[in-house]
Amino acid sequence: MELWQQMIRDSVHSVDQLVEKFGIDKTVAENLDEFFQARINPYYLSLIRYPGDPIWKQCVPDRAELDDIEGFEDPLQEDAMSPVPNITHRYPDRALFLTTSQCGMYCRFCTRKRKVGNADKISMKELESAFKYLEKHTEIRDVVMSGGDPLMLTDTMLEKILKRLRQIPHLEIIRIGSKMPCVLPHRITPKLVEMIKKYHPIYVNTHFNHPWEITPESTKACEMLANAGIPVSNQAVLMKGVNDDADVMKDLFTKLLKIRVRPYYLYMADETRGANHFRTSLDKGLEIMFKLRGHTSGLAIPHFVIDAPGGGGKIPVLPQYVLHRDEDRIVMRNYKNEVYVYRESKNNKSNGKAESFNIPIEIADKKNGNGNGNGGLKKPKNLKNITTIEVPEMEPNSN
Ligand code: SF4
Repeated sequence: MELWQQMIRDSVHSVDQLVEKFGIDKTVAENLDEFFQARINPYYLSLIRYPGDPIWKQCVPDRAELDDIEGFEDPLQEDAMSPVPNITHRYPDRALFLTTSQCGMYCRFCTRKRKVGNADKISMKELESAFKYLEKHTEIRDVVMSGGDPLMLTDTMLEKILKRLRQIPHLEIIRIGSKMPCVLPHRITPKLVEMIKKYHPIYVNTHFNHPWEITPESTKACEMLANAGIPVSNQAVLMKGVNDDADVMKDLFTKLLKIRVRPYYLYMADETRGANHFRTSLDKGLEIMFKLRGHTSGLAIPHFVIDAPGGGGKIPVLPQYVLHRDEDRIVMRNYKNEVYVYRESKNNKSNGKAESFNIPIEIADKKNGNGNGNGGLKKPKNLKNITTIEVPEMEPNSN
């Protein structure tokens, strides 16, 4: 048994351990275990500095999870967009491929609780229909292996899957979504990276949420991946009490760059059942992004996105920089709140009018389907009315 497998075996997971280690009331611990089991491996447990700290919040079950009955079980409608077991096909040329239900740690905010934990939540027997689907759909050029965490598979099993994927000629890119470099970096072994690099181009998307997760062990893991020619990027989630602070985020993103991990996405927390207590306001995310842009390298700034409830995909959101726009000019503010004007080129005018890139925003009315039929947007699935969002005034960072 490898070290990482021993650490999985030695994880805190039982009701009795939750009571003993974290002082959770026994009945509450039983209910939490029923809702979403715990798995805290000894490495991640060792990162906790004090009760309730940002590491604790991500891994220790909290009774607030039981009070949240409003969230969705499948907020991103992955199951509704699943043509065959283990595949979600949402975007035209990409597909999500779930390969295991196991993870190195069970994150309390997980959006895929319905699929994660018990081995029977994702059936390995059904991988074959997923391969067949990928083979048949020649428009898919990019497959994202996820789960669970694909790096919970043994090297042998993972190689079987990679080999099979590489036999599909139209699959140009394989991405592995894995939290292991963060939560159990011992999984990244020389043997693993030697095996993975035979199947290039392979990318790894990992998931660090707090600078305390960047340790000598996780640094070594990310550097081993990078040294094997595997680009590593990070997808963080904005969470109350964990990282809802511009200085913490800046620290996280600049430290990630130092270990050769590119901050890629920062997500608003999903509307997941049992995770409402992690959700911040949208303004908090916009404020953080405003305090990053211009104050640190653009390389350290991820795309801030909302993964749209109902399966709409990732939608980027930005602080308001454009103050005014007309045919001749755009008036903008920069990161110091200074105002600048950019003039449109006269060469781009025909008949005296500027070229325009204008996407109509029309909300379909209920009775007549798609509104006036001039290319308007579909009615939102989860909202009756759309209101204008006021953009708050934001103070530039004093850094
Ligand atoms: S590693 Fe990912 S899939 Fe697994 S529990 Fe954490 S967030 Fe969920």
